Amino acid sequence: MRNESDFDELKEECGVFGIVGHPDAAELAYYGLHALQHRGQESAGIVATDGTGFRYHRSMGLVHEVFNRDILEGLKGSTAIGHVRYSTSGESLLTNAQPLVFHHEKVGQLALATNGNLVYAARQKKELEAQGAVFHTTSDTEVIAHLIANSRYDELKNAVKDALNQLTGAYALLILTNDSLLVAQDPHGLRPLSMGMLGDAYVFSSETCAFDVIGADYLREVQPGELLVLNRQGLRSLSFAEPASRAVCSFEYIYFARPDSDIDGINVHSARKQLGRQLFNEAPVAADVVTGVPDSSTSAAIGFAEAAGIPYELGLIKNRYVGRTFIQPSQELREQGVKMKLSAVRKVVEGKRVVMIDDSIVRGTTSRRIVRMLKEAGATEVHVRISSPPVKYPCFYGIDTADREQLIASDHTVEEIRDLIGADSLYFLSEQGLIRSVGRRGAVDSCGHCLACFNGGYPTVIEEKESVPVEGRQG
Ligand code: SF4
Repeated sequence: MRNESDFDELKEECGVFGIVGHPDAAELAYYGLHALQHRGQESAGIVATDGTGFRYHRSMGLVHEVFNRDILEGLKGSTAIGHVRYSTSGESLLTNAQPLVFHHEKVGQLALATNGNLVYAARQKKELEAQGAVFHTTSDTEVIAHLIANSRYDELKNAVKDALNQLTGAYALLILTNDSLLVAQDPHGLRPLSMGMLGDAYVFSSETCAFDVIGADYLREVQPGELLVLNRQGLRSLSFAEPASRAVCSFEYIYFARPDSDIDGINVHSARKQLGRQLFNEAPVAADVVTGVPDSSTSAAIGFAEAAGIPYELGLIKNRYVGRTFIQPSQELREQGVKMKLSAVRKVVEGKRVVMIDDSIVRGTTSRRIVRMLKEAGATEVHVRISSPPVKYPCFYGIDTADREQLIASDHTVEEIRDLIGADSLYFLSEQGLIRSVGRRGAVDSCGHCLACFNGGYPTVIEEKESVPVEGRQG
């Protein structure tokens, strides 16, 4: 069960990893998933095949808790896919742990691993159930399996294309059978999915940091609307949809991805540093020390400090050993919950004017506690700088942004938020500053970013789209 503080952070949904044509496929998938652990900590799973049948293991917990040497040795085969999960849709249950495994009348065994979220999965599930489909999970990934099974096409690649064309939303998808691996990216490329090579083996990963861990070379991104088919005949690239304008999730650069990953050739740490530099350019402030909320804001804080000529210091320390499932104290002791995760370093902040860099403000409760923590540790002023624009709209693509009414920026001005969190000043990075800092190139104004949670411009049709919020003013 999630505790309240979980809802004050944006949460990634999942990470996927796949490898084709390596004798140690499952073991390499293990190391790949380990590198992707930050993308999901609720469950992990690997399915491997030697061409005669699936061997798989899935369980709740972290990758190193779910697998041991004996389990990995049992996952024989030269092809494997793996998954780490944080559930935003579908409950946190073992039955929802991916890869999901099915028996398909036409192709036999089928395993699916996805990162992303399907916008109309609930409605499609109802329609499929009305046609007689029986669902075994509450994960929307199962909708894809049923759409493949229900397709009028017999050949797998055509059935998959048919299914993908019925989906709306974000998906970086791996589909394993006993003789092939299919890899697909949604038409907007909302979630990152990279392709690499390890010797003669093809590897796929949500992030390139997994390639570095196993010594694979990066080849390219899987393209929006692309379907790759890998089997004995080799690798074929097909397109299942006209690629729409690219809209990679901005928060991959701002917050989710590991700093050592590259997305579309842009290093995440470098992009974040540039966000920090831009923040200083847009909202300079006189201060003695710059600190970042660890870990995701560290790079932006370094960038801000460099641009400002103010020392960067570790003013906040994260307790790395607080798991996601720590027992949350009672309502009255909730303040302790944050202190278990973060501490202010008194010797660094005492008597100082502090610039505190964070990557986002969701509900504002965590920001308020951190500002108070810094002041209790003796900071004379706390100036908050946020390396993203205000989050005013919910995400429909797999990021847990909480409900619209819980998003503090949806109905408060920047000045009101500043007041609520107790900061001496507050500034959110501009959209243009974000786009310029990351440095993606693109024909459209967004330069290949999804910016929907900032401006409501969803790249796909969202029928349930909510009304326009009160505009927050920079203050
Ligand atoms: S709406 Fe926001 S969180 Fe969701 S995919 Fe777009 S940029 Fe990312």
